[in-house]
Amino acid sequence: MGIEMKILVTGGAGYIGSHTCVELINAGHEVVIVDNLCNSNIESVKRIREITGKDIEFNEADISDREKMEKIFCNNNFDAVIHFAGLKAVGESCEKPLEYFINNISGTLVMLDIMKKYNVKNIVFSSSATVYGTPKTVPIKEDFPLSVTNPYGRTKLMLEEILQDIYKADNQWNVTLLRYFNPIGAHKSGKIGEDPNGIPNNLLPYITKVAIGELPILNVFANDYPTEDGTCIRDYIHVVDLADGHVKAIESIKDNSGVRIYNLGTGNGYSVLEVIKNFEKASGKQIPFQIADRRAGDVAVCYADSSLAKKELGWEAKYGIEEMCRDSWNWQVNNPKGYGV
Ligand code: NAD
Ligand code: UDP
Repeated sequence: MGIEMKILVTGGAGYIGSHTCVELINAGHEVVIVDNLCNSNIESVKRIREITGKDIEFNEADISDREKMEKIFCNNNFDAVIHFAGLKAVGESCEKPLEYFINNISGTLVMLDIMKKYNVKNIVFSSSATVYGTPKTVPIKEDFPLSVTNPYGRTKLMLEEILQDIYKADNQWNVTLLRYFNPIGAHKSGKIGEDPNGIPNNLLPYITKVAIGELPILNVFANDYPTEDGTCIRDYIHVVDLADGHVKAIESIKDNSGVRIYNLGTGNGYSVLEVIKNFEKASGKQIPFQIADRRAGDVAVCYADSSLAKKELGWEAKYGIEEMCRDSWNWQVNNPKGYGV
């Protein structure tokens, strides 16, 4: 704690990575980004520089590009890696499983091998609540059974297992697996936020596109689930809280040695209809919606027990659903075309 670290952030130009870079810099750490920009825009890096007033090193590279990655490790004396880089669309992963296995798993293996060579053995990895499959009860604790239903989820579970094996063979590694619930919202400046390609799959980006009139109507994926209003319940978490979770995780990684696993959520579940209501209140816009069929693979209720992160990392979410909706909307209004000009 309190010691400045030099951190490689893979996928640092992306949604969660960019917010985490800002919070790391605010906490006094030095950040180097690697991103191949396959799902992001260099503009986000400029915006991180604007917000923080710091000239961050950015490397356009694929994590599987051994030559470029070795150069980056050779030129920098990293204390740790925060590993966000990866493909993340569930539906696409079912259509293109090989692409997901190659990008997410092979890419990470190359990077881990380079970390070993340069003796950088502290890693925080972006996992997901998707590794819990269909939970039998809620709130979900870290020791619940794990199972996955799609190739994207499998890459997360396999990488969790791979990282645990690496630690078993060499106890000098420190591995923190962070299982995110549903990140939404944006930095309060409105300069960085989520900028999905094409029609969004996720609820909040879809709602904001309806609110600005880019999409006509929201499809609510069914109201026949066993919940109070029949729509699915999720644990939405403000992306800045999530970013802060990474700062806490990285600052405690050396004292908190071995393999550590934490849920990052708020512990509160909101239904799709509740999210719509909160968004309407925050934005003053009406969101036209219609009830549609269930989406394959959706679980009815999913929310976290994040008490372990509170106990061991001293982290808990600060922002509520109103602030999440307000900041998502603020980002959308300030950047109607996202990072594209
Ligand atoms: P994102 O797509 O905005 O960010 C990922 C970044 O990684 C992008 O900038 C992309 O260009 C980059 N990237 C992808 N493959 C790469 C490669 N081979 N080499 C270099 N860069 C590469 O996604 P995000 O929402 O910020 O998610 C970050 C991480 O968190 C991902 O691993 C994702 O699976 C995980 N996660 C996200 C969510 C969510 O709902 N957003 C939930 C749980 C877990
Ligand atoms: N959802 C919806 N309409 C949409 C997108 C999502 O009703 O256009 C619902 C979805 O069924 C789920 C919740 O919103 O219950 C959150 O979905 P999202 O894809 O954002 O996250 P997930 O929990 O699936 O990772």
